[in-house]
Amino acid sequence: MKVLILNAGSSSLKYQLIDMNGEKILAKGLVERIGIDGSRINQKVDGKVFEATAPMKTHTEGIQWMLRALTDPEKGAVTTMDEISAVGHRVLHGGERFTASVKVSEEVKDAIRDNIPLGPLHNPANLMGIEACEKVMPATPNVAVFDTAFHQTMPKKAYLYGVPMEYYKKLHIRRYGFHGTSHRYVSKRACEFLGLDRAHSRIITCHLGNGSSLAAVLNGKCLDTSMGISPLEGVLMGTRSGSLDPAVVQFIANNERMSVDEVLSLLNKKSGLLGVSGISSDMRDIDAAADAGDPNATIARDMLVWGIRKYIGAYAAEMNGVDAIVFTAGIGENNTTLRAMVMKDFDYLGAKLDPDKNKTREEAVISTDDSTVKVCVIPTNEELVIARDTLAIVTGQPIAD
Ligand code: ADP
Repeated sequence: MKVLILNAGSSSLKYQLIDMNGEKILAKGLVERIGIDGSRINQKVDGKVFEATAPMKTHTEGIQWMLRALTDPEKGAVTTMDEISAVGHRVLHGGERFTASVKVSEEVKDAIRDNIPLGPLHNPANLMGIEACEKVMPATPNVAVFDTAFHQTMPKKAYLYGVPMEYYKKLHIRRYGFHGTSHRYVSKRACEFLGLDRAHSRIITCHLGNGSSLAAVLNGKCLDTSMGISPLEGVLMGTRSGSLDPAVVQFIANNERMSVDEVLSLLNKKSGLLGVSGISSDMRDIDAAADAGDPNATIARDMLVWGIRKYIGAYAAEMNGVDAIVFTAGIGENNTTLRAMVMKDFDYLGAKLDPDKNKTREEAVISTDDSTVKVCVIPTNEELVIARDTLAIVTGQPIAD
């Protein structure tokens, strides 16, 4: 069975075709600049590249191009689109309604639409992706996999904000958390890899990429996570500030004559590593500049490390200890310097990094043999989780938790 995974953005479609017999990636592609000049598609199948630049005014036209590329006789991956058994869609915000992946129906689409106020940038694009597939591949079932679903097990004390209760009831203001598919995958994989009994496990997952979040996963269920009602809360990120006193918003707005929306845009797009360093949002550039002695890059890196350490300490407290600390995503998987800085002086907790083992960029334990807390790298694979959920749903099997 072949499953298509789709991550639809406002002007892009990222996709993968996976053969579920052996979970092999058959094709990977990107449609870019939908609705803008210079729309293009790039797809790779076994080293063969399909490339085209053509007008694509809508997501529907983008999906038509994707199917043209996938069924291309020379550079494609399938003979006809009937070989694609189902489409799994990454959907950002499932609000409180979705605690797991679901088959798309009119009711599910309405619920995704209802959550647009919570995910104003992503949910409309995700819906466009779903509706385009319905139009172009009407016989193929669609499944929605939510970034927020895994975090729905958090207790009230972890997800409520300290604002009057009426705002939770009326406006659904609360912590939702994101990167749920990644936290779910790496926390489970860590238990398998380390031989831990998941039903009695305390895992801290550190998903560190352009956007970063941490999660406390107790007995296989999310107990707490660092992102909030939006992906802005938590540790310092590529361009996002992470947590700050909300009075900062008022202060900047009043002094710089900016609207709240403008300040939020500043906190989302011009802050974080980029804003503090004034150099780049990319951790590789920050490392290079910090290592060359740039003071702003140095402090940006220190702030990120500081934030991660704070959450690890907090989550260990919440879970009465920790069995494993997991690093994943672009920075977590590749940045050995940052991992060493984060894990320095954690021996009071029983976690000791092995500098040699820490050189890895693959699935591995990176703590010393006598470290009672296992520290490991687990490369994330959100597409695989989406594909597995999609397969389970369309074949009527239970979804793995
Ligand atoms: P996204 O959150 O957009 O999916 P990634 O998970 O790819 O992004 O993370 C991007 C970050 O990871 C960047 O700061 C980048 O410096 C870092 N990164 C990604 N790949 C590598 C690599 N091979 N070596 C070092 N750092 C990397």
